[in-house]
Formats: sequence, C-alpha cells, structure tokens
Amino acid sequence: ASYFTEIKQLPPDPLFGLKARYTADPRSDKVDLGIGAYRDNNGKPWILPAVRGAEKKLIESPGYNHEYLGISGYEPFLTAAAEVILGANSRAISESAIVSQQSLSGTGALHLVAVFLNEFFAGNKTVYLSKPTWANHHSVFLSAGLKVDTYPYWDAENKKLDIEGFVSTIQNAPQGSIILLHPCAHNPTGLDPTPAEWNRILDAIAERKHLPIFDSAYQGFASGSLEKDAASIRTAIDSGKISSPIFVCQSFAKNVGMYGERVGALHVILPAGESAESKETLKSAIKSQLNKLTRSEISNPPAYGAKIVATVLTDPESRKQWEEDLVTMSSRIIKMRNELKLKLIGLGTPGTWDHITNQTGMFSFTGLTPDMAERLEKVHGVYLMSSGRASVAGLNDGNVDKVARAFDEVIR
Ligand code: PLP
Repeated sequence: ASYFTEIKQLPPDPLFGLKARYTADPRSDKVDLGIGAYRDNNGKPWILPAVRGAEKKLIESPGYNHEYLGISGYEPFLTAAAEVILGANSRAISESAIVSQQSLSGTGALHLVAVFLNEFFAGNKTVYLSKPTWANHHSVFLSAGLKVDTYPYWDAENKKLDIEGFVSTIQNAPQGSIILLHPCAHNPTGLDPTPAEWNRILDAIAERKHLPIFDSAYQGFASGSLEKDAASIRTAIDSGKISSPIFVCQSFAKNVGMYGERVGALHVILPAGESAESKETLKSAIKSQLNKLTRSEISNPPAYGAKIVATVLTDPESRKQWEEDLVTMSSRIIKMRNELKLKLIGLGTPGTWDHITNQTGMFSFTGLTPDMAERLEKVHGVYLMSSGRASVAGLNDGNVDKVARAFDEVIR
C-alpha cells in the first residue's frame, strides 16, 4: 500500500544548484558570483571585527547563559533593532507605535507578515512584488496563502528603473493592496529609486490606501550609511501620509555578516492619529497573535545571534567598529563595480556599462543572457545566475580581470 499521495520531485533551488556546481568544479581559477554573501578581497567569508569583539564581550559578561528567550525574542535586541532601522528620532518610537517580534532572519520576518496578513488583512490579499524580485518572495507569500502580482521595475532595454510603470501599477492596483518594497540595494537589479522617485511611490501608496511592507536586507551595506539606506522607510513613516500600518522586515544576515545565525525582526508600525487607548489595545492584540504564531512554529527565537547583534548595536565600541565595517564592505564592492566597468570599457566589450556603477549593494544585473551565463560557467568557470545577476561581492583584485575578459568573450 502506498502511504502517500503523489510526492512530486521538485527541481533544485536554482541558487543552491549553482552553488553545488561551483563546489564540484575542479578548476582552481573558478569564480563564484552566485550566492549573496560578502567575500573579502581574498574571496573568503569575512567575520566582521565588530562581531568578533561583541562575541568576546558577550561571553565574558556576567550572567551570560544559554537559557530560552521569551516568545517575542530578546528585548534589548528588539529595541536596538527598531532604533537602527527607524532612527532614534522616529515618530514611531516617540509615539510608542511599534510592535516588534524577533524572527528567523529576514525570511522569517517575511513569513510572519505573510501568515499574519493572510489571517487578518481586510483589504485585497494580493502582494505586489517588483518584477523581478528576490525569487523567494513569491514562495514565501504563496505558501502562506496570499496571492502575488507584480509591478514593473527593471527596464531591460535601457537597463534602468521603470519608474512610470512602477507608479502607474500601484495607482491602478485595487485600493488597499499589499505592496512589497525593497528599501535599498534592490535584489536582483541593484537599482534603487531616487529620493524624488520614492516620494512618488509613497504618495501613490498613500493615495490608494495600500499597505506597504519594507523588506530591509541590506541596511548600511549598500552605501555604507545606515541613515541613507533606511531613508525610504523613515520617509514613509515620518511623513505621516500613509494611513495603513507599515510592516518592516529586518535582516542582520548581510550587514552584520551573521548569515547562518538567523537574526532578524519584524516591526509593525501603527499609523499616526490613533487614540492612545486604541493604539495600546491594537498593539497588544497584534503582539498576542505574533506570539501565538511564533510559539506554534518555533516556540521561541534563537538567542545567540540576537545577543551578539544587540551588543554590536548598543555597545559604543562595537557600534563604532560596525559602522567602520559597513564602510569596509560597501566601499570594496563599489570599487569592484568600478574596476569591472573600466576593464570592460578598456576591452571595448560591446554594450554600455554605466549600469554596473549606477547599481548599488550586493548585486549587479549585468544584462547578460542565459546563454551567456551558461557559457561563462562552462568555458570560463565563472558562475552567475542565468538571469545575469552577479554578486559583486564575489569579485576581488585577484579575479576581476579574468571576469572582465570572460564577459568580453561570451558577449562577442
Ligand atoms: N530579502 C531580500 C531582498 C534578500 O535579498 C534576502 C537575502 O538574500 C532576504 C530577504 C532574506 O535573507 P535572510 O533570511 O538570510 O535574512
């Protein structure tokens, strides 16, 4: 007898499949431009000096232990996490309008929002995602039961942001839809709206009474500035224009380099203008539901990474070091973008290459086709996604020349 209905074999995750082929490739000069994780100039994973220092302080601190956290997570972490993303002077903080819940990194925060909105959102339960977006966005929202749709983002012909398509799609979506936004370092295109474009996007969201979710996976990583990379979120909250709650999913995977520790938070920010009493009632109800979800899924969030990140954020010496580490990572990536562009121009590679330096953050949407990506892998041992997305963090002084020559060969 069969114990199962049909269990279909699914194709491997494209990114992790790429990683497996890279690992199996015996060529010593292979280059990994696939996975979105920072590498130092020797191509090695980098433990941030701020994290090394914080880890030591934490372990040596009196009362250090491995007890369970409460269901909402580590409170000093949640307070510091809200402050770093929203800004110390945020309306949300001064009005005490925030509910924060610790999550399994950014993905876990997205999952919490998805399940919460699927159960409680009264508007159009369709999440609008940028086209393209981080592939997992589709899976996270669909598996929670929500619908997904897209708004235009990447103008492939001109290799720039399709701001008109973006704004008009938001304007035409049914009133009260859910709009997912990348606050900075858009994955996969690396293209972000300008401050003026953000105003247009946020105005359209406010006008149509949509509910925005900000997915913040790269704060400080894009520009090196925590303020600049959070500006879109802070404008949305502090302008007071948006009448819906605002959801912020926050990951510390990239900006603290704690990928595997799964440190993140979900912040729900209530709109201005609620009476103090109804705000407290709503906050308390939301918190109780997020706790119920957390309890049934993971019982309580993981402690170790949250304690390290809390130390990084709040201990003055660690915080100073972290802000320097952010500049180290972001400026190395910016330098590599420049070098790749200059080398391609130097080789006379057909096409224009300004988009590589106009993009920010971990990724560059190179404009290379799936065929070119395949040839890069087979002939040159240069691994990037078939969409043409390259993780710029995989470039370094030792391989950028090879990569430029390989691009040149497959493009011609
Ligand atoms: N959101 C975006 C846009 C991302 O690029 C990523 C990671 O690549 C995440 C969320 C989630 O990352 P994590 O769950 O590791 O925090």
